[in-house]
Amino acid sequence: PPAAGPQVYAAPGAEGSVVSYKPRYDHFIGGRYVPPAEGQYFDDITPVTGKPFTEMARGTAKDVDAAVEAGWKAFPSWSRTSPAERALMLTRIADRMEANLEAIAVAETWENGKPVRETLAADIPLAIDHFRYFAGALRAQEGGVSEIDHDTIAYHFHEPLGVVGQIIPWNFPILMATWKLAPALAAGNCVVLKPAEQTPASIHLLLDLIKDLIPAGVLNIVNGFGFEAGAPLASHPRIRKIAFTGETTTGRLIMQYASENLIPVTLELGGKSPNIFFEDVAREHDAFYEKAQEGFSFFALNQGEVCTCPSRALVAKTIYDGFVGDGVERVKRIKQGNPLDVSTMIGAQASNDQLEKILSYMDIGTQGGARLLTGGERADLGGDLTDGYYVQPTIFEGTNDMRIFQEEIFGPVLALTSFDGFDDAISIANDTLYGLGAGVWSRDGSQLYRAGRAIEAGRVWCNTYHQYPAHAAFGGYKQSGIGRENHKMMLDHYQQTKNLLVSYAEGPMGFF
Ligand code: NAD
Repeated sequence: PPAAGPQVYAAPGAEGSVVSYKPRYDHFIGGRYVPPAEGQYFDDITPVTGKPFTEMARGTAKDVDAAVEAGWKAFPSWSRTSPAERALMLTRIADRMEANLEAIAVAETWENGKPVRETLAADIPLAIDHFRYFAGALRAQEGGVSEIDHDTIAYHFHEPLGVVGQIIPWNFPILMATWKLAPALAAGNCVVLKPAEQTPASIHLLLDLIKDLIPAGVLNIVNGFGFEAGAPLASHPRIRKIAFTGETTTGRLIMQYASENLIPVTLELGGKSPNIFFEDVAREHDAFYEKAQEGFSFFALNQGEVCTCPSRALVAKTIYDGFVGDGVERVKRIKQGNPLDVSTMIGAQASNDQLEKILSYMDIGTQGGARLLTGGERADLGGDLTDGYYVQPTIFEGTNDMRIFQEEIFGPVLALTSFDGFDDAISIANDTLYGLGAGVWSRDGSQLYRAGRAIEAGRVWCNTYHQYPAHAAFGGYKQSGIGRENHKMMLDHYQQTKNLLVSYAEGPMGFF
């Protein structure tokens, strides 16, 4: 948090708050706010107190049609802008966000429930850097020229796809929007974005800050629910690509919708990531041991609402009792409280549905024979926060065949087990439908390398976890997704290659 900032930020709407929401948000189509075609709105609720704070347009197929139309109207001139012009726009967006960091961070915290120390220090700075990274990556991109023979040359150009659809979840509203928008806009596409119905307002707050920088129709936002607004977008015959982040079951539907029009799909889906602690982490109780202990606690970051949540901890049998004993004590010290307090480490779950889902998994864990080591209940923080959606960080000990080890809970719930040797660790780690993230902890570089290569996951953190730099590729193996995000390779997902094959020979080819 900024040294100059307050200890506890005022709630939006309260005196002294850095955020003020409008009472109602419409769709944003063709550069202006447009009311929903069907005239319906829905409440946006803050998980901090469980109370509604604004309302949102409830989108349907008609709104999606209008947004796609607006995108195509803007596309001819936007797609012909130079890389330098588009990069400048992304850089200006980043600068504007930086100048309003506190407001965006508090808005994100209020709507999602995550601690403000994270939105200030991680989520929003990462989003800002993402725009800057793609501004740079775009300008460094090169086409290709191949000499086919002395008189024949193949030129390769990167061309945008057209109007693309993007559907995002609620766990990192602004960061997920940025991961999608920065490469798509950099590549010269126009976008129709559908935020998650639980967290659209912080994206609109951001939009209000940057909309004057973006030509009308280049970015369109349709609010609403999955089946009402998401499905018409993913199945729209005039979009040229759909990018989705969300649950694996929804990802299957998105692929089906997209197959009707044969449009490309990128999917960032669920996970059940293993976090492996090899024997040598406990050789000494030094700084590295503390680092590994922190790594053990990382399942609670962002209230466990992270697709890469290290939700399965695998600890070497030989160090199990001591390492786990220390780990449980550390988790008990995680400070839960008002997300707007900069000293809070764990805040509220994003929605009541999510809270109930997590609590139901507490029962599933116990009934399945797992042993509860800490937590296991809803947390009542008293006062205004009593009706907020707070869950205690929870650790269950059990075996990898249990449901709590196999199913994504998306909460601060750790499923803990032991392993006997390297091969056993890898076999347990890979015994899952998912393959998004993984962590390995060891003092031995060669062991880290071998484990990292053996684990079937798109991102393996070695002696670290939960770092998301813009220039490291991110995405899933197995049922965790298709395609990658971040890294300049992401531009490939938003561009198509045009090859001009040119003959400079003066005479005919000689066939006819
Ligand atoms: P979700 O699939 O329910 O919803 C995600 C988005 O899809 C929302 O905008 C929703 O409105 C929309 N949607 C829902 N049904 C739809 C349908 N039939 N057609 C079109 N759109 C539809 O997921 P969620 O619960 O919001 O998010 C949590 C999930 O996201 C978790 O599984 C998590 O692992 C995953 N996630 C993955 C990544 C990643 O990068 N792999 C990142 C964050 C979250």
